[in-house]
Amino acid sequence: AFVKVIKTIQAMRSDVRAARAGGKTVGVVPTMGALHAGHVSLIDAARRACDYVVVTIFVNPTQFAPTEDLGAYPRTLEADLGACGDHGADATFVPDADEMYPTDAMTEIHVRTISERLCGRDRPVHFGGVCTVVAKLFNIVPADKAFFGQKDFQQTVVVKRMVADLNFPVEIVVCPTVREADGLAMSSRNVYLTPAQRRQAPALYGALQRGRDLIARSHPPAEQVAQAMRRHLAADAPDGQIDYVAIVNPSTLENVESTDGPVAMALAVRLGRARLIDNVVIE
Ligand code: AMP
Repeated sequence: AFVKVIKTIQAMRSDVRAARAGGKTVGVVPTMGALHAGHVSLIDAARRACDYVVVTIFVNPTQFAPTEDLGAYPRTLEADLGACGDHGADATFVPDADEMYPTDAMTEIHVRTISERLCGRDRPVHFGGVCTVVAKLFNIVPADKAFFGQKDFQQTVVVKRMVADLNFPVEIVVCPTVREADGLAMSSRNVYLTPAQRRQAPALYGALQRGRDLIARSHPPAEQVAQAMRRHLAADAPDGQIDYVAIVNPSTLENVESTDGPVAMALAVRLGRARLIDNVVIE
């Protein structure tokens, strides 16, 4: 189905202003495009919860380090617009980099400490770029609710904290991770995997399930759980390079020693050109 494509900040603002003036609640789904069933689940959730749904599609250069995959990142705009239309989005915001970053900006939003843990160790510029672009998108698309995926667990924690600390008038809604049949979390970056790597990739979720089983059975010390998860990865994804396997407090993202309370199990593994992440939170 057809969907409106808006390219300028000014046009996006007046479009949302008109919806709000008509009494509609607004939901926004920020994405970098190359949409898959995970993204679509966010659009569907927004469609159920809000009267007016805006999907933003912007491959944000500032969240990539120079060594990372900005140039190679998959771009499938025509198919993305089709998916947005089919799932009932009212508008898409598809700005150029020049529209989002016209001059050398001087302002960056950095959420301390929780941005430096987990993925922040391997990607020190990443969450600054994410927070800054998400803040800009919230100002361009004033929404009642914004929809994010559990797949990017640390991102949900960091964005929620930014919204609380800076009083953004938006509710962050986190939607469950959508997986392939074999457990691999859907990701735009899965296209980087060779067939041999793709066969090893479900090991990430396998390790998380192993960790969840151990904790459910006997609440062993966190380091013991992490060791079992690393062994699982070494066996089932021998070509993978572990960036981290961590058992953390779900709010502070600090390593925990005990698995008696709520914990998040998170991991990042490089498999060929892809850096894969996944997580499971135990309440
Ligand atoms: P991205 O395009 O990778 O920046 O992702 C845009 C949004 O989709 C983020 O909130 C992601 O967490 C979410 N997302 C990506 N993959 C999945 C997935 N497999 N399941 C649920 N949400 C996802």
